[in-house]
Amino acid sequence: MNAWELIKQKLASQLSAESFENWFGRTALREAQDGAIYVGVPSDAVRQYIEQELSEAVWSAVRELRLPIREIVYEANRQGATTPVNGNGQALGGFEPDYRLNPKFTFDNFVVGACNQFAHAAAKAVVEKPGVQYNPLYIYGGVGMGKTHLMHAVGRALLDRQDRARIVYTGAERFMNEMITCLKQNRMSSFHARYRTANVLLVDDVQFLGGKDATQDEFFYTFNELYDAQQQIILTSDSPPNAISGLVERLRSRFSSGLTVDVQPPDLETKMAIVGKKAEAEGIELPDEVAYFLATKAKSNVRELEGALMKLSMQSSVTGNPITVAMAQQALKHLVPNGEKRISIESIIKAVGGEYGLTPVQLKQKTNERRIARPRQVAMYLAKELTPASLPEIGRAFSGKHHTTVLHSIDVVEKLRQKDEDLNRCIQRLMDTLQ
Ligand code: ADP
Ligand code: MG
Repeated sequence: MNAWELIKQKLASQLSAESFENWFGRTALREAQDGAIYVGVPSDAVRQYIEQELSEAVWSAVRELRLPIREIVYEANRQGATTPVNGNGQALGGFEPDYRLNPKFTFDNFVVGACNQFAHAAAKAVVEKPGVQYNPLYIYGGVGMGKTHLMHAVGRALLDRQDRARIVYTGAERFMNEMITCLKQNRMSSFHARYRTANVLLVDDVQFLGGKDATQDEFFYTFNELYDAQQQIILTSDSPPNAISGLVERLRSRFSSGLTVDVQPPDLETKMAIVGKKAEAEGIELPDEVAYFLATKAKSNVRELEGALMKLSMQSSVTGNPITVAMAQQALKHLVPNGEKRISIESIIKAVGGEYGLTPVQLKQKTNERRIARPRQVAMYLAKELTPASLPEIGRAFSGKHHTTVLHSIDVVEKLRQKDEDLNRCIQRLMDTLQ
């Protein structure tokens, strides 16, 4: 595998599936020389976008992989240049290419579990009656939980029903970039024409709008125009409307005015079903015990599960051997060194501190100040969950707390987790980063 493919692999695990596909899916190494690599990209627009928006991500992949690369030159394929298209695949002048619905993100390919059944039902209902009942539909949840997938599935299903519908799919970030470009080039009328004539507007990752006031203004008008005309709007975000910081009140209330649903991290069975389905779709022979192994070892993030599956599939096709648990163990060594990774209480304290903006020293302070006490309880809870440490050992790590205090803290967090969704999500996130 060449250096660029390694970089791509890294990027695939970090970017959303669709942005990876859009920007790196059709790139390939052309030449490597004296620490410089030359990468062919499908068009000039892609080259520009990578250089302006993604070069940071590319270079951090280079650093993480410790590749001896000092320069990356992107070269646009002249003959391969594509015509810009909108969500329906119709040519559309002046906008970036390839922001289409991902053909793999369909309802058929979506696994429904307890974690996402409401979001799924809401998405299905929107397909039945677009623009009427649940408008806007606002889907929120953590990374890799299938929000984009569901949103595309609605777009795809509506397109199948009425192929004349104008489905416009964009990300909040792209919405802003296009707006800025159009402002600069005095083409706001084409910007309006693009968005305000949509029959269905899908906007991914609206949390990005936080703090971007001018973009929020523009988005507000777009939103109202479509909403008043009873055109369906679907939004996704990493958090509920009231938790997006820097979002103006009028947008916040618009976002919450329809139906807000969340997607939770998948449980084991759902993860197994997802990986099984992916394998089937890709024609990969995946024994049940390997599906089980992957589902237990991979974090709650589905994207990672997919990455692991692809790695196995590649390995199996290169070696000609069938996929086995042993092969999976070997391939996923980096995820689970020596079978199980040892997590230290110190690393938990650091991670929890990072989450709450506290230093390890602050977190270990003997104080009952709520600002510190709650994060400390969370850290103790995680120490119990993720390390083999006993209660007294955990107590010692927190400036000598008595083991009954530790037990009480664990209890509190355990109970809170059932009721407080934000806290639950936060703990899930911490577990993911730690494991
Ligand atoms: P998000 O937008 O929430 O970050 P995505 O929709 O991009 O996540 O999903 C990440 C990957 O995981 C995609 O390849 C998607 O197909 C897959 N995925 C997530 N949830 C499911 C599910 N319930 N069923 C099937 N695939 C899923
Ligand atoms: Mg997404």
